[in-house]
Amino acid sequence: MFLSILKLFAGSHHRRFLRKCAPIVKRINALETEYQKLSDDQLRAKTAEFKARHAKGESLDALLPEAFAVVKNAARRLCGTKAVVCDHELAWEMVHFDVQLIGGIALHQNKIAEMATGEGKTLVATLPLYLNALTGKNCQLVTVNDYLARRDSEWMGHLYRWLGLSVGCIQNQMPSEDRKAAYGCDITYGTASEFGFDYLRDNGMALSPEEQVQRDHYFCIVDEIDSILVDEARTPLIISGPVAEEREPAFPRLRQPVAGLVELQIRLVTRLMNEAREELEKLGEDKEPSADALDKLWLAAHGMPRNRIFLRLMENGRWRKALERHEGVLASEIEKDRRFHLKERLYFSVSERQHESDLTQLGRDTLRPGEPDAFVLPDLPTRYVELDRDETLTPERRAELRAEAEAAYAQVSEDIHAIGQLLKAYTLYEKDKQYVVHEGKVKIVDENTGRIMEGRRWSDGLHQAVEAKEGVALEKENKTYATVTIQNYFRMYEKLAGMTGTAETEASEFHDIYRLTVVAIPTHRPCVRVDDNDIVFKTRKEKYQFAIKEIAEAHRRGQPVLVGTASVEASETLGRMLAMAKVPHKILNAKHHESEADIVSLAGQRGAVTIATNMAGRGTDIKLGEGVRDLGGLYVLATERHESRRVDRQLRGRCSRQGDPGRSRFLVSLEDDLMRLFSNAGIISSLLEKSFKEGEPLEHPLLNRSIGTAQKRVEGQNYSMRKRLLQYDDVLNQQRQIIYGLRNRALKAADSRATVLAVIEEEIEERLAAVYPDPAGEADRRAAEAFVYWYITAFHMRIDLEDILARTKDQMVLLATDRVRALQAGREQHESAEILQYLERNVLLRAIDRNWQNHLTEMEDLRRGVGLRTYAQKDPLNEYKAEAFKAFERLMQQLRTDACAGLFRTATSMEALEALMRRAQGQATATGPAEPGTGAATESKPAQAPKAEPFRRLTPKIGRNAVVRIRKGPETQDLKWKKAEALVRDEGWEVAEVLSE
Ligand code: ADP
Repeated sequence: MFLSILKLFAGSHHRRFLRKCAPIVKRINALETEYQKLSDDQLRAKTAEFKARHAKGESLDALLPEAFAVVKNAARRLCGTKAVVCDHELAWEMVHFDVQLIGGIALHQNKIAEMATGEGKTLVATLPLYLNALTGKNCQLVTVNDYLARRDSEWMGHLYRWLGLSVGCIQNQMPSEDRKAAYGCDITYGTASEFGFDYLRDNGMALSPEEQVQRDHYFCIVDEIDSILVDEARTPLIISGPVAEEREPAFPRLRQPVAGLVELQIRLVTRLMNEAREELEKLGEDKEPSADALDKLWLAAHGMPRNRIFLRLMENGRWRKALERHEGVLASEIEKDRRFHLKERLYFSVSERQHESDLTQLGRDTLRPGEPDAFVLPDLPTRYVELDRDETLTPERRAELRAEAEAAYAQVSEDIHAIGQLLKAYTLYEKDKQYVVHEGKVKIVDENTGRIMEGRRWSDGLHQAVEAKEGVALEKENKTYATVTIQNYFRMYEKLAGMTGTAETEASEFHDIYRLTVVAIPTHRPCVRVDDNDIVFKTRKEKYQFAIKEIAEAHRRGQPVLVGTASVEASETLGRMLAMAKVPHKILNAKHHESEADIVSLAGQRGAVTIATNMAGRGTDIKLGEGVRDLGGLYVLATERHESRRVDRQLRGRCSRQGDPGRSRFLVSLEDDLMRLFSNAGIISSLLEKSFKEGEPLEHPLLNRSIGTAQKRVEGQNYSMRKRLLQYDDVLNQQRQIIYGLRNRALKAADSRATVLAVIEEEIEERLAAVYPDPAGEADRRAAEAFVYWYITAFHMRIDLEDILARTKDQMVLLATDRVRALQAGREQHESAEILQYLERNVLLRAIDRNWQNHLTEMEDLRRGVGLRTYAQKDPLNEYKAEAFKAFERLMQQLRTDACAGLFRTATSMEALEALMRRAQGQATATGPAEPGTGAATESKPAQAPKAEPFRRLTPKIGRNAVVRIRKGPETQDLKWKKAEALVRDEGWEVAEVLSE
C-alpha cells in the first residue's frame, strides 16, 4: 500500500518535470528552425555572443533555449560529414530528439536522467556541457572506462569543435603536461579514477602550482552514474607508497597455525556432514530430522558454509527449512547457552553474509595450548590504575612498565586481527573467484565485471593475509599519502549530474548522499520488450543445460542471443558447454574495453551468440542486424540474478532499444549464491515442495517476487556498508578540506615568507599563551624557561629570560616573531631570493605532508581500533569522531612545530647553513634592546662570540667527522655529522650536542 503511494508520488514528480519542460522544448525547436536560416559563421558566432552575455550577468537558465538550439542546429549541419573516432571514420547522422532535449535540461538542473540504453545519452550530454562551458569554467564528463572517454570525446568533439569549444580527454598513464592541457579545455572527458587521482595529486602531492593539472570542480556529468557512485564507491581511491618504519607483520608467523586450524575444521565439518547425510537420507518423507542432525547442519553453516556436502544437503527444501527453523530457535535469547556450547564445538566461526570470522575457545586452545589468555586483549586502563597506585615504583620504573603493557596490548591486538584476516582469507576468499594469483602477486577480481583491478589492494591487512595464504611474497603495507572516496570526490562539484539506464532502484541513495533527484525520461519510441518470468532450477547444472538448449534453439532460428553471466568463471563454463554443443559464440568479460565494444556492437547480428559478464561492453549499444527484427529482436538470457536489481535491469535494457523488438529472461538455481544466502526459503521451498520434481524447472510470478525481495535485502545491506564508509570518511573529509586548503595556500602564496611566518607566529603565540597565564599579567618563570629552550632549539637564537619577564605577551609575540623574520631576511646575503622562496614553501609543504600522511595512518589504525571497542558497547562512530578530532588537533600542533623547526634547518649548501648559524648567534647576542619591527637592523651587528653555553653546542662549525647527538622527540642518536646532517636537514631531527669535534 505504502509502496504504491510512493510510486504514484514518484510518478507525479516525473510528470511535473516533463510538464515544465514542454514549453522549453517548444521554444528550442522554434529557435532551431530560425537558426536554419543563418550562415555557418553566423551560427558559430553565437558561442562568443553567449559567453559575452553570460559574462554580463545573463544566467545560464536564461540562455538555455538558445544555446540548446544552437547545438541542435549545429548537429543538423554536420549531418553527412565524417568524424574520426578512435582512428575510424564515422558518419555523423544525429540531430537531437525532443526527449534528448529534455534529458539535457534535466542534466543542466543537476538531476540524474534515467534514459534507457540506446536513447543516445552521449549526444544528450553535449547540450548541458556546451551551455555550462559558456562560463569559461572546465566542464567534465565521466565515463566508465578510458576507451569510452576517448571515443566519446572524439565523437562529440566533432560537434564541440565546430561550435568553437575545445575538448580534451584524460587517459591512464598520460603525462602531466597532457593532463593539464586536457583540463585546460572547455570540456574534458575521463574516468572517475583518473579525475579522483588527479585531484589527490594536485592537492596532496604537487610541489608547485605548475604541477597542478585540474582547474575547476564546477560542472560534472557522470555517465552510468549508478555504476560509478554505487558499484565502485566501496573501494576508495588511495595513493600510497611503501612505509618507512618496518614492523614485522604477523602473517608469516601465524599462517601455519591458522592453516592447521582451518584443516581441523574442514575435517570436523566433513565428518559431521557425512553423519548428517547418513541420517537424513534414511529419513522417511514424513519424519523430521533429529535435533542432533540439525545441530550438525548448524555447525556447518557457521563453520564451513561452503562445504560441498552441506551445500548438497541444502538443496533439499525440507532440510533447508528445518535448518532455518533451528537457526531461529537457537538465535533466541533463551537458547543462548546452548548456542554458545554448540559454537564451542567449532574452532572458529565464519559468517558469509557479514564477511566476518572469529576464534572460539577451542580454536584458541588449539593455537596456544595452555595459554588461555594468549588471544585476549589485556585490560590496559586497569593496568594503568594498578601501576599508578603502586607506590613502591619509581617514576622511571612505572613508565617502563606502562610501555611494556602497551607493547603487549599492541602485540595481542595485532595477532587477533591477523588471525581474523587469515581465517577470512582461507574460508571466504577463493582463488580465481575473488582473486587471482598472477606473476607472484595476488590481484583482486572485480566481482561484477570479472576484471582484474590492477593496483588495488584490500585494506586492513586482508590482502597480506591472502598473500600469506598463497605463499607469495607479502607486499609491504603501503602508507597512504592521499585518499578520498569516490563519493566525497564527486560531492566537491558545484554542479553534479548523471545519466544511466537504471537509477530508480537507488533513487533514495542518490538523494540522501548527493542530493540528486532521478527523473525518468520517456523513450523516443515506446519500449516493446517482453520480460518473461524467471525460471528456477534445483541445481546449477540443470540451469546451464536448459540455457544451452535455449541458446542453441535461438541460434538455429537465427535470433541473436546475449547471454549474461555473473562471473568470469560462469562465462567460461557456459562457453565450454556451447562449444560442445557446437554453437559458435563469443565470450566477453570486460578485460579489453576496445575490442569488446566492437564485439558487443555486433551482438545483434543474425545468429550471433555473445556471452558477457554483467558489465562487459557497457556503454556500447547493440544494433539489430538485417531480418533480426522479424525474428523477435535480441534475446537477453541471463543465467543468474545479480545481487542488485539495478544490474539486472541494465542487462535487460540491452535489448529493445529505440522501439526494437526484444525479449529477456532470467534463469536461477537454488545453488546460486544469492539464493543460498538471502532468499526467503520459506516461499520458495513451499512452492518447491508442491511442484518440484528432479530436473523439472519452476516458473511462477511469486518466485520473481521472492527473488526481488532477496535482492532488496542485499541492496539494503550494501547500501548501509557504503553509508558507513561514508560516515567515517566524512570525518576525514572535513579534515582533508582544511589541510588541502592550507596546502594550496602554501603552494600558491605569492609571498611564501609571509605564509610561513604566519604559521610560526601562531605557534609562538600558542606557546607564549602558556607563559603568560594572564595575558595582561606577569610571566610564569618556569614556563618562560621552557620557552627559551624551545626557541633556541627551533631557531638557534636565544631570548633572554629577563626579557620575557619584563615584557607582556603581545610585545613578546612581536619580538620573537620579528627575530625569526629578520634572520630569514638576512639569508638573502647567501641565497637567491628564488631559492629562499622555494625553501620557505617547502618547509610548509613538508610539514603538512609528513603530518597529514602520519595522520592518515593514525586514522586507519583508529578505525580498526574502534572496531574492537564495540565490545564496550559504545558507538564506534562516535568514538572515532572524538578521537579523530583530538588527533587532528595534535596534527595541527605538530605541523606548526615542524614548520618552526624546519625553517632554519634547510639551506642549499653547508656554507649557507653555517653562515645562517653564525648570524643566528649574532642576533642572539644582540637581544637586549632589540625592538620589534627593526629586525633588519640587527643584521649589521657584528657576530660576537657567543656568551651563553647552549650556543656553542647548538651552532658549532661542525666537521664532517664530528660526532653529534641528535634528537627527535624522545629519541636520540649519536652519529657522525656526515650521516646526521641529512636527518637534521630533512627529517626533523635537531642537534642536541656535539660530542666530539
Ligand atoms: P546510450 O549511451 O544511451 O545507450 P548511445 O549514446 O551509445 O546510447 O547512442 C546509441 C545510438 O543511438 C548511437 O549509435 C547513436 O548514433 C544513435 N543516436 C543517438 N541519438 C540519435 C539521434 N538523435 N538521431 C539518430 N541517432 C541517434
